[in-house]
Amino acid sequence: MNNKLDINLIRNDFPILKEVINGKQLVYLDNAATTQKPQLVLDALTGYYEHYNANIHRGIHQLAEKATAAFEESRLRLQKFINAPSAEEVILTYGTTDGINLVAQTYGRSFIKEGDEIIISTMEHHSNIVPWQMLCEEKGCVLRVIPINDQGELLMDEFEKLLSERTKFVSVVHVSNALGTINPVKEIISKAHAVGAKVLLDGAQASSHLHLDVQDLDCDFYTLSLHKIYGPTGMGILYGKRALLDAMPPYRGGGEMIKEVTFAKTTYNELPYKFEAGTPNIADVVAAKYALDYVDLLGKENIASHENDLLEYATAALKEIDGLRIIGEAKEKVSVVSFVMNGIHHQDIGVILDQHGIAVRTGHHCTQPLMNRFNITGTTRASFAVYNTIEEVDLLIKGLHKVKKMLG
Ligand code: PMP
Repeated sequence: MNNKLDINLIRNDFPILKEVINGKQLVYLDNAATTQKPQLVLDALTGYYEHYNANIHRGIHQLAEKATAAFEESRLRLQKFINAPSAEEVILTYGTTDGINLVAQTYGRSFIKEGDEIIISTMEHHSNIVPWQMLCEEKGCVLRVIPINDQGELLMDEFEKLLSERTKFVSVVHVSNALGTINPVKEIISKAHAVGAKVLLDGAQASSHLHLDVQDLDCDFYTLSLHKIYGPTGMGILYGKRALLDAMPPYRGGGEMIKEVTFAKTTYNELPYKFEAGTPNIADVVAAKYALDYVDLLGKENIASHENDLLEYATAALKEIDGLRIIGEAKEKVSVVSFVMNGIHHQDIGVILDQHGIAVRTGHHCTQPLMNRFNITGTTRASFAVYNTIEEVDLLIKGLHKVKKMLG
């Protein structure tokens, strides 16, 4: 077990963990959907509204200056978090979904044409499928899909067979939300680049577990959502290489993204503002910095090591349950464990666990094609974060035994 972190002390940083659900202490195991927020993030949110709520970039009064400074400081913090070469390459978005749509609607509509091919994978979240399908419908380009094996790993030789001079774009998930698989993204990127294709990584799940370095990865685009990393909902980033972002047209039109507007013609602002029309989610952007500071304080390696302990313990204990099958047993995994139980519907499992105060995710996890690949309609998914404990895993296992007794 990891002894560098005092988990009980960490739990005190998260007020929500004291909630009582159905008369039971909350056991929150739905972290892949969203993580809980530590007190310093909550304080940053209310602190902004209480002390310096103002619109950014345009005001000259003190509150506006303070809000602008905090907003731009957060951008710098996010730049450091992913090791982007410059802050101008870090676009503030509403989250991963927004980032992918931005790329599909700007880069895609400008540079991908009829007959071109876009490669995604079987394990994509709907947010990395539908924007590309919409583009294909509009432009007449073709979607290709990398298959996976029964363990939930990409078939890399099949990926290589899909690559050709027609491949213009590859958009894959760094870490699967439904299976926990960590994909070999560096290899994907170098192979895609070898045929001249650009690569976007969906980092929604990777960001809270893995060290991120977009320069080392050499990806063309990277998107993530802060609410998966102990930060606020409704904000995220899109990293893009400068030359690509410069060549792309703006996404949404409005205030902030312009240089000059006349009725005859509008010229656009520089990076990153060209892609940031309208008043952004200022409070959430400001608070994001504190979430990343918190992660740094604990140390990402320490967090990952604790989560891996929980994953190993949970996987072994789940395998002891008769009639339970784990979906997703990749060699490289984060702390997400999905499973099905013989003859018991995942929704019933979720409802019974909830009666015991245990929050898990049930359903297709926005990955319906992946569920089809496994011939299932959904799974029950437990996903662990830094504040989870072995005792909570034990409560999950105990809860599943109760499920079996009632419905098995
Ligand atoms: N991709 C993956 C792998 C995800 O897990 C999620 C969130 N469930 C998303 C994309 C979408 O993220 P958001 O809803 O924050 O835009």
